[in-house]
Amino acid sequence: MKLISANWKMNLTPSQSVQYLQKFLPLVEDVRDREILLCPPFTSLCVAYEILKDKEVKLGAQNCYYEKKGAFTGEISLSMLKDLGVSYVIVGHSERRWIFGESDELINKKLTACLEEGIRPILCVGERIEEREAGLTFKVVETQIRLALSGIEAFTDSIDIAYEPVWAIGTGNPATPEDAQLVHAFIKDLLYILNPKHEGRTRVLYGGSVNPQNASHFMAKRDVDGLLVGGASLDPEAFAKIVKSF
Ligand code: PEP
Repeated sequence: MKLISANWKMNLTPSQSVQYLQKFLPLVEDVRDREILLCPPFTSLCVAYEILKDKEVKLGAQNCYYEKKGAFTGEISLSMLKDLGVSYVIVGHSERRWIFGESDELINKKLTACLEEGIRPILCVGERIEEREAGLTFKVVETQIRLALSGIEAFTDSIDIAYEPVWAIGTGNPATPEDAQLVHAFIKDLLYILNPKHEGRTRVLYGGSVNPQNASHFMAKRDVDGLLVGGASLDPEAFAKIVKSF
């Protein structure tokens, strides 16, 4: 099933999140043929869980730590997230990589921990503008995926991947659907090389300045299995339009 996910980033307080859900849920209550995922900040997970627990809309987190518990001040474990009904975690978002210095090695540990805990990770990959201009898009994406999946290639059916070119995130300048399709097809070929047994079981989402106007153009592409939406997902009406746009 296609996956349409919202990444609220560091936006919406718990009470704003409740207001959001009160507006959003009626708009999507008749949607059955696609999975809808909301990834609020950690501080809103509790209130969102209470509202979503008997609903089809899934709850995700934007980050996690890989250790199970202990002296890791400020971090959140996967069992804490699971207890709040979280079934997905975004791992390796470019803001985590480039603002907070997350390495491929750390991302690999987080993915491994997600698989152990039974939470489905959405691994984010994508090139920066200078890499794109140097013709390195495919190489960067391949390296990020190979390093992130190192040692866990057997579990590609339990992971989704979001292709999010860094230059397209929050800029209002999305990739063209045609360019996205090329990278998505490349990612699927690479996944086949890594694990032919699980062909077609890893969804590849597009993210980067998706909005209600362009969403259906991405979703029309053969290898686009869903979307990861940042800015436009903060408006419940706009996000509902994206969810229903194809
Ligand atoms: C994101 O942060 O994952 C994202 C795709 O952001 P935006 O939609 O705002 O470009």
